[in-house]
Amino acid sequence: MELRQEGITDTRVLSAIERVPRDRFVLPHFEDQAYANTALPIEQGQTISQPYIVAVMTSALDVNDRMKVLEIGTGSGYQAAVLANLCRRVYTVERYPSLLRKAEKKFLELNLHNVTSRLGDGSNGWPEQAPFPRIIVTAAAEEPPQALLKQLAVGGIMILPIGSTLSNQDLVQIRRTDSGFELAKILPVRFVPMVLGVAGDG
Ligand code: SAH
Repeated sequence: MELRQEGITDTRVLSAIERVPRDRFVLPHFEDQAYANTALPIEQGQTISQPYIVAVMTSALDVNDRMKVLEIGTGSGYQAAVLANLCRRVYTVERYPSLLRKAEKKFLELNLHNVTSRLGDGSNGWPEQAPFPRIIVTAAAEEPPQALLKQLAVGGIMILPIGSTLSNQDLVQIRRTDSGFELAKILPVRFVPMVLGVAGDG
């Protein structure tokens, strides 16, 4: 992967990405493309993000090994696996039971014991574990979900795609200060939409 040439300079992020075998998180049919810098389809019409976007989001999240991180949208589990190498614990929420089961199997196989996952509507966050110093959302909502803003610690950072359509989304960094929230756009992106409620795929 040519992430360095693409401008990713955080060496901790680069080595965390190098440690995660992306070929284990893609569908068998796409294994030969696992190390290309592209998003790929996974089950249920969802996608595993482009490695460059994973690198940008992980860098912008600015995590350290004392932090717990909340991720919304487990999907393949790839982003959670990258974060697991950088933080104390990842709490990740997915609305498709089948995707969640598959991702949980990967976490076990790769000995990522600091990932805690659950089925749920991630727009509600994970209130029992709040506040979180870091929150990462990997599905696009029109507005930052209120529950997530509430569960972000003061001084904390949330990274999320914001926008109503595929062609009109920005990756955004939100910082919670003593007095409110500061928002900064990072770059245009294309994420699958955040959908409310839990899916019923068994
Ligand atoms: N981080 C993932 C990206 C998966 S795509 C990876 O590394 O592979 C986004 C995921 O968000 C999809 O699996 C989708 O089902 C999930 N999602 C969408 N809306 C959600 C919601 N409200 N709660 C939880 N997960 C949601």
